Amino acid sequence: MTREPRRNVELKAVDRDPAATLSVAIAAGARDRGTLRQRDTYFGVPHGRLKLREQEGAVAQLIAYERPDDPAVRLSRYHLIEVPDPETALAGLTATCGVRVVVSKARRLLEWENVRIHLDDVAGLGRFVELEAVAAPGADLGQERRKVDRLRELLDIRDGDLRAGSYADALLPAPDPELLRLARAVAMNAYAPYSQLHIGAAVRTEDGRRYAGANVENAAYPQGWCAEASALGAMVAGGGGRIAEVVVASSHAVTPCGGCRQKLAEFAGPDAVVHLAGAGGVERTTTLGELLPLGFGSADLPG
Ligand code: ZN
Repeated sequence: MTREPRRNVELKAVDRDPAATLSVAIAAGARDRGTLRQRDTYFGVPHGRLKLREQEGAVAQLIAYERPDDPAVRLSRYHLIEVPDPETALAGLTATCGVRVVVSKARRLLEWENVRIHLDDVAGLGRFVELEAVAAPGADLGQERRKVDRLRELLDIRDGDLRAGSYADALLPAPDPELLRLARAVAMNAYAPYSQLHIGAAVRTEDGRRYAGANVENAAYPQGWCAEASALGAMVAGGGGRIAEVVVASSHAVTPCGGCRQKLAEFAGPDAVVHLAGAGGVERTTTLGELLPLGFGSADLPG
């Protein structure tokens, strides 16, 4: 039997003044449920997120969810599975999917009506506040959104405090600044008179060399090619190598097309880090394995 995934209306923000946030929430009538210590292990999966949550004094859970990236108020759908033997689950999932990142945090949990308030101290990241209203089955979510908005006002959460990505994304490695600069610089020179989409790609080899290229369009449309192909051409001309890191930069974050994922996989393993940058900086960090699951490679050829 398939069960309807649970639904949340939620928001995440930097907590500029954790002591003030706690006292305002308590004054507003929130009940303090104490501090939880949690470790979330995120596995490499092709869609959404899959994590094992281990928590002191509680049964571990496997949590699978999909989440749109709207930073204002997000709606996420998720499935929970209780895991009585987390060590075995961790070993099996690590062996088959690989671990993307581990997030450890101390979470002070408060409840205000049906909204959970998380005051999080995240190892390596800092202090955050999360609001999470759990919707009843079939609810139109209007009431949940109003409650989250009301709490947001009380706790003085400003637009600039909001964070779209998960803690897991924020803990992934930051881009090599020179690689990001190169990708952006070559995007300015893209030849894109037809699409007006100027894209720059830059690759860093395992031995530290960097190559960049831009998209090159053509009046005979199929004759054009992508920025990643240009960057790979420059890399091969410069001596070739294995790729450790890729940046793709444009006015907004764009993912490499299917063909370019295959081209990159010729020179990069599934763990190669791929940063997708827009005008404001890197918006998403992923890996080639996540972009090209079950990819075809030279190992599939006969002989
Ligand atoms: Zn492409």
